[in-house]
Amino acid sequence: MPGRFALPPTLGSLRNYVDGEFVSTDKRFDNVSPLDGRVLAQVHEADAALVDRAVQAARKALAGPWGGMSVDERAAMMHRVADVIERRFDEFVAAEVGDTGRPVEQAKKLDVFRGILNLRTFADLGKNAHGDYFETRTAGGDNLMNYTVRKPLGVVASISPWNLPLLSMTWKAGPALICGNTMVVKPSEETPSSATLLAEAFHEAGVPPGVFNLVHGFGANSAGEAMTKNPGIDAITFTGESRTGSTIMKAVADGMKEVSFELGGKNAAIVFADCDFDAAVDGVVRSSFTNTGQVCLCSERVYVERPIFERFVAEMKKRTEKLKIGWPDDPGVDMGSLISHKHRAKVLSYYKLALEEGATLVTGGGVPTFGDERDNGAFIQPTIWTGLSDDARCVREEVFGPVCHITPFDTEEEALRRANDSVYGLAGTIWTTNLSRAHRVARRFHTGIVWVNTWYLRDLRTPFGGTKLSGLGREGGRYSLDFYSETTNICIKL
Ligand code: NAD
Repeated sequence: MPGRFALPPTLGSLRNYVDGEFVSTDKRFDNVSPLDGRVLAQVHEADAALVDRAVQAARKALAGPWGGMSVDERAAMMHRVADVIERRFDEFVAAEVGDTGRPVEQAKKLDVFRGILNLRTFADLGKNAHGDYFETRTAGGDNLMNYTVRKPLGVVASISPWNLPLLSMTWKAGPALICGNTMVVKPSEETPSSATLLAEAFHEAGVPPGVFNLVHGFGANSAGEAMTKNPGIDAITFTGESRTGSTIMKAVADGMKEVSFELGGKNAAIVFADCDFDAAVDGVVRSSFTNTGQVCLCSERVYVERPIFERFVAEMKKRTEKLKIGWPDDPGVDMGSLISHKHRAKVLSYYKLALEEGATLVTGGGVPTFGDERDNGAFIQPTIWTGLSDDARCVREEVFGPVCHITPFDTEEEALRRANDSVYGLAGTIWTTNLSRAHRVARRFHTGIVWVNTWYLRDLRTPFGGTKLSGLGREGGRYSLDFYSETTNICIKL
């Protein structure tokens, strides 16, 4: 069915949005559908000069219209942007599905839903933000009054990955803008469509020119690198691979820019024999294979207490083999394609490596065939391994595909030691009905996030971020407001 997942008509040509105008460039690249390999659109790549124009426009808006607004006025604007996304909901869904090949239901209930919620939540949180207040009497008898004020950081550069495009961009734009900053935003080269629609939403909502600027392009030697090297940027918020985070950190070190990094993961789930067995199997299937395994929070390492290990693996196999892989709008579809053929080649190289490292293949390990245009797409089978040693590369490196390795353990101490034995520290999941154990293990996980008897459920006011190579800083709720503000203490002698 050629053209079944075409982009909305306005997205045939994906342009940059700078200083309130949509800007074409001569250099273009293809936006390719991972569902069937068709070229969906041409993307206009921004060069360093256009990035600089965007930064200058953002600086002008900082001093001008945006900086001059009250927080209530800014919040009202952001709600208007969210209103536009709600009104154009189906276009945003089509953009996310076209670029990523994910199920339509997921795009509706996760991506676009969260895009709207991110903007509304931070608009409201910003209105209710407050500072500190302390009264002090010094040893010398002086009476002091201290209070803090929040000021914007300035021009924030936001660089996003492809796995949850609209969600990632609005997760950064919501708090950055409500705090009075202006932005230059770059989506991943793989997912330019919802970003372009988002720029249209800002335009339609009447947000002043220069407040939200969008540039398209790649990382190295392209728009991404130009952003990190531009001296007019005051802070960088980046989500992506740990290696890229490290490159960006070096690029901004001399300018001592503020950075917030949400990076890779190799997350562990620990399943105790006292768990609710059905809920745990369902939970681990979800945490390993949601979004075709392309969520930074997915569990790629699963530690199962020995008495239930065999049964757990057998049940995981059964339920994984029932997952329906297919077109995004197939009824009951669970998994779409991977993001690209390039990424599939990387994931398949791990499928091969796992066998070389001595894995037992429980299920999957290859590519499904359909007998139609999907055979030109980037589909892959969800895959379970057992039998790898703790130092196997497939147990230590982030695959970022639909994979998990399941291994038995004997004691709580052993499970924790092995789960924490990673260069990453993003999220951990515990499956148990023992309340004391849940608390005990949760606080000893070396991760920024721990889930007990669930996975991925979020309250946007809570802190989000990782330890070790998984990130730097926390975002979410007041943690985001703290990052996107310059806090100044004012001390007055009474
Ligand atoms: P990536 O690092 O390859 O690219 C991310 C973004 O950085 C893209 O927009 C890319 O163009 C840009 N970029 C690449 N090199 C750059 C450079 N030298 N200078 C400036 N910009 C550059 O990551 P990806 O493949 O798009 O995303 C997958 C990764 O993201 C995984 O590791 C995943 O775990 C991680 N991720 C983390 C979180 C989190 O919250 N911790 C969330 C989502 C994804």
